[in-house]
Amino acid sequence: MINFNMTKIVATLGPASSSKEMITKLYHSGVTMFRINSSHGDVDIHSRNLSYIRELEKEEKTIIPVLLDLQGPKIRIGCLDNPIELKKGEILKFKHQSELKDGIIPVDYKGIASDVHPGEMILIDDGKIQFEVISIENDVISAKALTDGLLKQRKGINIPGSTGSIDVLTERDLKFVKFACENDIDYLGLSFVREAEDVVMLKNILKSNNYNHIKIISKIEKPQAVENIDAIIDVSDGIMVARGDLGIEISTEKVPIVQKTIIRKANIKRKVVIVATQMLESMIENPIPTRAETSDVANAILDGTDAIMLSGETAAGAYPVESVAMMKKIADTVEASPFMRKNKFPWKMIEDVKDNQAMAIGMSIADMAKKMDIKAVVALTASGFTAKFLSEGRLSVPIYACCPERSICRNIKLYRGVFPIEIHFEGKFDKASLQKIDSFLIQNLNLIKNDTVIFTGSVPELLLGGTNFIKIHKIGSAD
Ligand code: PEP
Repeated sequence: MINFNMTKIVATLGPASSSKEMITKLYHSGVTMFRINSSHGDVDIHSRNLSYIRELEKEEKTIIPVLLDLQGPKIRIGCLDNPIELKKGEILKFKHQSELKDGIIPVDYKGIASDVHPGEMILIDDGKIQFEVISIENDVISAKALTDGLLKQRKGINIPGSTGSIDVLTERDLKFVKFACENDIDYLGLSFVREAEDVVMLKNILKSNNYNHIKIISKIEKPQAVENIDAIIDVSDGIMVARGDLGIEISTEKVPIVQKTIIRKANIKRKVVIVATQMLESMIENPIPTRAETSDVANAILDGTDAIMLSGETAAGAYPVESVAMMKKIADTVEASPFMRKNKFPWKMIEDVKDNQAMAIGMSIADMAKKMDIKAVVALTASGFTAKFLSEGRLSVPIYACCPERSICRNIKLYRGVFPIEIHFEGKFDKASLQKIDSFLIQNLNLIKNDTVIFTGSVPELLLGGTNFIKIHKIGSAD
């Protein structure tokens, strides 16, 4: 079964969703890509989840990409046997150690005591819990709670303003990069990217191990990344607006404009973009979202994101399936609304793209989708280029991308409106070939006799990157 959502949905796996049954349910509710979060769980759980996804992919005869999110230099609370109840005004101690000892809260970062100073803030759990640093003595930080709250183990810590002295890839991340290379992962999420060189460093590691088909999603969550966004987009395969940490690092009121700016830039450069965190946060505990959350999801789609992501909702919430179903309902409603950019490329892309042949073909197809009753575009693509390019035209019809390479199929699946089919399409349009193509479209893609489709791509040899034809075809006309 293919999920026909035009806007793609990413679901994070966690304790609430780590079973074959739940992964299957989430997929059937509308998930496009699963996210494995290396910050939580151990390698065994991630391997098991990955094998469930790959089994499901086979059973459903579909393509399911998997994103492995690297923790990066994220500082976290260490192990706590039980959550600690905090009272405003209370003084707590923090230190680099693995577990709670002598009442001192464990922190997993060695440099924590030298990175903070009296008067600075320590923000925990996406800023929900706040401390002010009072003093640092013998590597023990004393800090005053500015909020009540429940402190749980492994929750993230941010120190706003600190540039941090840890490398973007920690030792732990390098182990997970190896895991990704050995375990058929499609995307790596690079956390706390500061500049393009951070991305290039990971790219070089993948390249030197012959794994350059693994794509890199740069997570934008530091002010330095926002400053260097153009160069980061240029070297990345995709971008995530990681609003959890971003909202703490640059302050929350700036997030909406940064989100819009990043999405627009990524669209123009044809890089896939995901909006993440707190999209349906209240559904961690409730079966329906707040109206504000519904609007947030809708507005991210209207901003032009390719994908929307669920984190705690599917990883640890009480309503994981309902959260995906709700996201799909919101996305489908927005996609059908007149507010959605449809059959139109961003003007800046039209201006910037030097490959005028592909641009002219893309614009013509967008025009045809407006003027004719076409049901789908069938893109024959070896590199994925044609599908990615057309996706930016936000077509009103699905783009069925026929591609012989599974890794490319998994990559283009995340682009808005693209549905990859792993198949070698010869691109011959004689009578016999057309009959064969028609029966494939009817059997696999919900199309029927007399439906009009547009073929595009590069023929006769599926030349890499060279989109060179448009053919209008009525299904069954070759019989
Ligand atoms: C975020 O900060 O928004 C995010 C997606 O990253 P993580 O879930 O790893 O904190």
